[in-house]
Amino acid sequence: MQKITVAIDGFSSTGKSTIAKQLAKALGYIYVDTGAMYRAVTLFAMRNNLMGAGVNNQSTLIKLLPKINLKFVYNDELGFAEMYLNNENVEKQIRTLEVSKNVSPVAAIEEVRFKLVEMQKKMGKEKGIVMDGRDIGTVVFPDAELKLFMTASAEKRASRRYKELLDRGDDVSYEEVLKNVQDRDYLDSHREFSPLKLAPDAIEFDNSDMGLKEQFERIFNYAERVINKKDAQ
Ligand code: C5P
Repeated sequence: MQKITVAIDGFSSTGKSTIAKQLAKALGYIYVDTGAMYRAVTLFAMRNNLMGAGVNNQSTLIKLLPKINLKFVYNDELGFAEMYLNNENVEKQIRTLEVSKNVSPVAAIEEVRFKLVEMQKKMGKEKGIVMDGRDIGTVVFPDAELKLFMTASAEKRASRRYKELLDRGDDVSYEEVLKNVQDRDYLDSHREFSPLKLAPDAIEFDNSDMGLKEQFERIFNYAERVINKKDAQ
């Protein structure tokens, strides 16, 4: 069976990582969460006091980029790879609302994107990969055989994220989470470099009113069709 590349893009909190993990597991593929990489760079910038209302010291962050070492380490128990920043497991720290509030301005910096996109392209060289993010089908893997673009209403997405944060024990309000989702949607789709946009050959997938089981079945079906077609060629 031939291996393909699956690119999953879309707005914040549309459940991209959930479906990407399920699909990667079912196909025996590698899963890469590129949002985790932008979040880790953001955590680094926050720890080095480079953030204010946005990135207040962009040139220092760009200079320090070679000192930011990112890697994914597979956790057998969890069944997915965790993000390491300079050899420290930061999987928990990068998922806070504070990091979510700071990440879009960091992800808008051309040099940051260049570094991370290079890494992502290398990870997908052998195919057999499911990668999620904002520019995977447009910039990282424009030739991906299957491209999905996930959407859902901002309110649905905010309530999903709000529940996740509460479950982790974070002290946040629904309004704050909704504002963050809306702010990131705007910033991610209006930035100059690699904005979030629908690739012409992507399948738009609205999961506002869809359960996880139905979503998985439909998307797995798309993947099977693409793989079978490729095998038949
Ligand atoms: O996917 P997640 O919500 O964790 O991504 C966090 C942020 O990282 C996004 O809001 C976006 O600003 C940035 N990002 C990006 N390009 C990607 C993945 C994430 O700009 N490929």
